[in-house]
Amino acid sequence: MSTIRPLNISVNESDQSVWVDAGVKTIDLLTFLRHHVTPKAPAGYTLAAFPWFVYQSVAGAVATGTHGSSMEHNSMSNQVLALDVILANGTRRTFTNKTDPFLMRAFRVSVGKLGILARVQFCIVPEVPVRRVLKVYTPTELLALMKDASASYVANGSIPHWMNETQIFWVVQKNQFLAVSFLRADSADPSEAAAALQNYRPDNTTVFSKKGDLLALGELIIPADAHANVSSGQIVITPPEGSAADAEPYVRAQRWLDGFLSREVNPAVPAAKNDSESARTVGARWVLPKPKAASVFYGASNMAEGLNEVSRLGIQTVAGNLTAEPAAIYIHQPRATLSQLQTVLYDQYELQTVLYDQYEVSIPLSAMGSCWAKLLDVVYQGDLEGTNSIIRPLDKGFRTAPLIRFINKEDGLLSHTGDGPRMYLNIEDYLFYNTGRKTNPEFKKVMAALTADPACTSQGPPRLHWGKAGWPDPGCWHGDAMFGDNWCHFGCAVQQLDPTGKFADSAPDRWTWQGVDLDKCCGAEGFKAGVEGCACKVQHARSMEQCGAAPFYTYR
Ligand SMILES: Cc1cc2nc3c(=O)[nH]c(=O)nc-3n(C[C@H](O)[C@H](O)[C@H](O)COP(=O)(O)OP(=O)(O)OC[C@H]3O[C@@H](n4cnc5c(N)ncnc54)[C@H](O)[C@@H]3O)c2cc1C
Repeated sequence: MSTIRPLNISVNESDQSVWVDAGVKTIDLLTFLRHHVTPKAPAGYTLAAFPWFVYQSVAGAVATGTHGSSMEHNSMSNQVLALDVILANGTRRTFTNKTDPFLMRAFRVSVGKLGILARVQFCIVPEVPVRRVLKVYTPTELLALMKDASASYVANGSIPHWMNETQIFWVVQKNQFLAVSFLRADSADPSEAAAALQNYRPDNTTVFSKKGDLLALGELIIPADAHANVSSGQIVITPPEGSAADAEPYVRAQRWLDGFLSREVNPAVPAAKNDSESARTVGARWVLPKPKAASVFYGASNMAEGLNEVSRLGIQTVAGNLTAEPAAIYIHQPRATLSQLQTVLYDQYELQTVLYDQYEVSIPLSAMGSCWAKLLDVVYQGDLEGTNSIIRPLDKGFRTAPLIRFINKEDGLLSHTGDGPRMYLNIEDYLFYNTGRKTNPEFKKVMAALTADPACTSQGPPRLHWGKAGWPDPGCWHGDAMFGDNWCHFGCAVQQLDPTGKFADSAPDRWTWQGVDLDKCCGAEGFKAGVEGCACKVQHARSMEQCGAAPFYTYR
């Protein structure tokens, strides 16, 4: 989808939405929106919430429930208003929350199983000042916060205010948690809104004068229905009545937008290495990348402490106290670090790569306190403040700081939070191909606690991010156990939209509804669990007892 030209972004200010082609990268959408400056949005627009990694396609983000840490706006899937989809039968159809409420719940996190997303419509919000605040907690303080939050959620369903817009890095070896919170000027809480304006300096995509005063509204206008299509050059910046069409701000804005679209959103399609000249004109073809040597630097366990320190300093650099606009203030991965990622993702980079598996496990809020008690015990072995030992055995399992985020209940059938809010823990395993050390036992112990210890599993199954690593061995992941009736609701959507299995993939043991009579049990509203003979009990090739002890995934 990212090789189609032109890729389009089309803002509609009247209903505060944007239609964006599936292959546009999240970062390019955000950059486009922040420059979409209008009288209604003098600082430009943005998505209400977005992830730390912003180099995926918007469709990939939506298909997998990609998220940052907002309890108010949730994942990118949650911000979708409508979708244009190429269906298994070859037709193209638009689905909206209004016209197709059931199928949209399925499409919200579809993992490629229902059709090919061609365009996505998101809601957008004007950019407002946001203040970023960094706090440091000890493990004891963090545990108290987590336990209190779980207790208050269990007692009366209430979620502490601090959790919204907060993400916390765990600097394992320093016995430290770095909590980054974002206070927004559009918050309903007046004190938070006021705090968000502290030391605010508008960025250069905002219509402000050099002195920092807002210029009279209407000095720079991008029409509400501006259509971003670089090949036909349809973005037109219209100066207000009476202004010269060639006045500097309008010419500059036009030049910038045209350049941005051709440079970032619609750059020349990179040709695959063994591609013929003629093939280039119809887009790059995907070739299996050759594995490259892993960086010994990251793999070696005696580098763990140093690399963790690099990670901590990196966080301090990007997460310190500051007030700016959303696209600039929410931390996102710097473009420069892309060069280190696996060639599977970014074939054009030739540098030595850092090989790692990135897992993200979500735990129900109600189990967050007990789960953290267990994790801290596993890692620190009773020495929470790190007073007794300098290097603990499990430290070697970490090269980067695990990241805690929070997402509220969503209505996607395969959304992790379909049954209530969850804490996510992003945690990375660096591989040891070149060092003779083929597994990482320290890391595995933490994963085992997260995915299988009753302290983490008692309130509902821990779930693995759809777009990340960690999937168990064939037959050992049971959708009905993970998602309950929602698994069969999703099965009904698959049966309706892809009855011949065109989008079935290489994991048929997981994408299965074997033994459930979908013909009889599916209706317009999905799975009819109340009807006799319609229980969402799928037959699996292996029972969980036949699977190895957690974490029962095979190293690649
Ligand atoms: C370094 C890194 C950091 C990450 N950080 C975060 C993070 O901060 N937060 C977070 O939530 N996630 C994060 N992720 C996960 C990432 O957002 C997902 O893996 C995302 O799906 C990748 O998008 P992609 O465009 O590369 O899709 P692909 O990897 O190509 O596809 C992923 C899935 O989406 C489906 N899909 C893709 N495009 C379409 C389409 N057009 N129509 C239908 N289905 C489609 C595919 O079938 C597949 O199932 C991170 C991933 C990486 C590699």
